[in-house]
Amino acid sequence: MTQQTQRGTPLTALKGVGSRVAEKLARLQIHCVEDVLFHLPIRYEDRTRIVPIGSLRVGDHAVVQGEVQLTEIKYGKRRMLLCHISDGTGVLVLRFFYFNAQQKESLARGALIKCFAEVRKGPKHLEMVHPEYKLLSEIQAAAEVDEALTAVYPTTEGLHQLSLRNISEQALQMMQNGQLNLQELLPQALLADQALPDLASALHYIHRPPPDAPVQALVEREHIMQKRLAVEELLAHTISMRQLRATTRLHKTVSLAADNLLLEAFHDSLPFQLTAAQQRVTQEIMRDLEKNYPMQRLVQGDVGSGKTVVAVNAALRAVAAGYQVAFMAPTEILAEQHYINISNWLTPLGIEVAWLSGKLRSAPRKQALQKIASGQAKVAVGTHALFQDEVVFDQLALVIIDEQHRFGVHQRLALREKGVKQGVHPHQLIMTATPIPRTLAMTAYADLDCSIIDELPPGRKPVETVVLPDSRRDEVVQRVQAACQQGRQVYWVCSLIEESEALQCEAAEDTASTLAELLPEVRLGLVHGRIKQEQKEKTMQQFKAHKLDLMVATTVIEVGVDVPNASLMIIENAERFGLSQLHQLRGRVGRGNQDSACVLMYHGGLSDNARSRLSIMRETSDGFVIAQKDLELRGPGEVLGTRQTGIQQMRIADLLKHQDLLTVVNRWTDQLIESEPVVARQLVQRWIGEAEQFASV
Ligand code: ADP
Ligand code: MG
Repeated sequence: MTQQTQRGTPLTALKGVGSRVAEKLARLQIHCVEDVLFHLPIRYEDRTRIVPIGSLRVGDHAVVQGEVQLTEIKYGKRRMLLCHISDGTGVLVLRFFYFNAQQKESLARGALIKCFAEVRKGPKHLEMVHPEYKLLSEIQAAAEVDEALTAVYPTTEGLHQLSLRNISEQALQMMQNGQLNLQELLPQALLADQALPDLASALHYIHRPPPDAPVQALVEREHIMQKRLAVEELLAHTISMRQLRATTRLHKTVSLAADNLLLEAFHDSLPFQLTAAQQRVTQEIMRDLEKNYPMQRLVQGDVGSGKTVVAVNAALRAVAAGYQVAFMAPTEILAEQHYINISNWLTPLGIEVAWLSGKLRSAPRKQALQKIASGQAKVAVGTHALFQDEVVFDQLALVIIDEQHRFGVHQRLALREKGVKQGVHPHQLIMTATPIPRTLAMTAYADLDCSIIDELPPGRKPVETVVLPDSRRDEVVQRVQAACQQGRQVYWVCSLIEESEALQCEAAEDTASTLAELLPEVRLGLVHGRIKQEQKEKTMQQFKAHKLDLMVATTVIEVGVDVPNASLMIIENAERFGLSQLHQLRGRVGRGNQDSACVLMYHGGLSDNARSRLSIMRETSDGFVIAQKDLELRGPGEVLGTRQTGIQQMRIADLLKHQDLLTVVNRWTDQLIESEPVVARQLVQRWIGEAEQFASV
């Protein structure tokens, strides 16, 4: 804390900032006046023009002006003041829950009022709840609007926008007077190369756009001034992640010498040959494992590309060297599936595999813990339970984490820490079926090395994909029936227009009972979020064992579930899903040797965006192409998952909008770290701050 204050101008130099406000600012990572300037607006409000009431839409933030028609107090559950105003194009209701008699009086019929707030839907008219407003004399009425866009800042409880605006105003003033310690950190060559403006101009513009600023470009974050700051921020992030990687290289680990006997025995026992991609990635991993600092590698591979075998290759290297491996999957069902596969593969080689899940009863649990602690079990497969405190490994050398694309850098680090023993860090291998485009991966996963399995095992037939309106449901039901009669299995995925989980579950229940009526001879199972985990798993196991023909489910059917005999996937309201999710769902079929199909049913008219999504699904099965399209259609926040790397908490950079900058940023990251380490450190400090740095972990 003290250090942070020292690095810049103390906040108390600002009027209106005492210790109480300073405390709140600290919550926003603002520790000095310079930090204020890097606390950037999240959006802008356009108060430069008055919007006709008739053209307001729900969700707009707008200035309107009108004449009061009627003001009344309503007595319901809560007393409130309703003020109806009109500008001749429509009626708008202003709703106040807190008010006094004087306020009611001033809002008398005929008064002219100008107000600003978000537009909401009301029972009869559009509304504004507690708008900012001013009463106007008729003479003033025509003229008064703001000259420039109004910046809106991210804030915290008890800190008003107006205070933030006031504080940033003062900081900008100090910057202009040369009172602040603000260095240009971007190299001249980079500025020139990208034709970027200098730091002070960019900051000033972003905080206080001039009256003639292009509103659209600013809102879309496409303005050159924003780009200038985005470059800096992206640089800071990649530098910080690279530094994290550098720190990793200082850690001790066990170097796992090559020993190919076990590997060869394993490969001989497999009924197939590894694909060239599997072999290449295996080699990349093996080279890491020989080093004397811990591996941090991400393996990306499309659904069905055979990541598990590659992970087992790595595991065998550790086992051959006399060490243990922890293999973690995010859900019980996935973990159990891995346990079954892996023990089938490894037990014949004389390797003991332990199983650990949160639900294990106490006797088998104790036994598993003991085997792990004594080193008798060489491989432990399980869920998060593997990382609980009472799990003690004898000699853990490798941690494998499957399907953890939802994990950000902080969680990755936390998991890694759990495996540290006497200063020795285990190697870490992370596998994900959510491919992301390369440049994006270099930024989002800059702390990791990446490998890509870019080939599917031979003989996989593409899943035939059809798009149908749900008015043709009867045909779809017949298709389900035919498939079941031929001894195939079918998934039927429901979703609802409503977002609520409860309603989704209901929809799945409704669908299940309708289908049960229509197809009495079909053995049907149902899983959704409200069914107990135990029951859910039992149903999945029955489906796996072909004791069920048809599985009706919400999207809870987990990633990675492997039922090769399932060859038909029906997805209802497919237009509601993102591309990556559709791709994951579709990946549940086409795992066996028979022809498979996926029916995407849609409801009602399709938006342009939905139409392109569905046709992309029809045209390609390449996960990388789909990921790229998904990125274009939805933006990186969605693609990376909400709790991603922290990368999407960026202040101004937008991985999609600024995608074209990533190559430049990556190049300069290396250059700065190498030849300008001080500047590199200052960039990280400016944008990420001490508290958020990972280097200490
Ligand atoms: P994912 O990458 O989605 O995790 P899996 O590891 O579950 O894929 O593999 C999918 C299926 O493909 C499994 O049944 C696995 O045994 C099989 N498989 C893996 N590699 C090959 C290969 N080289 N040739 C044929 N089948 C393979
Ligand atoms: Mg898998």
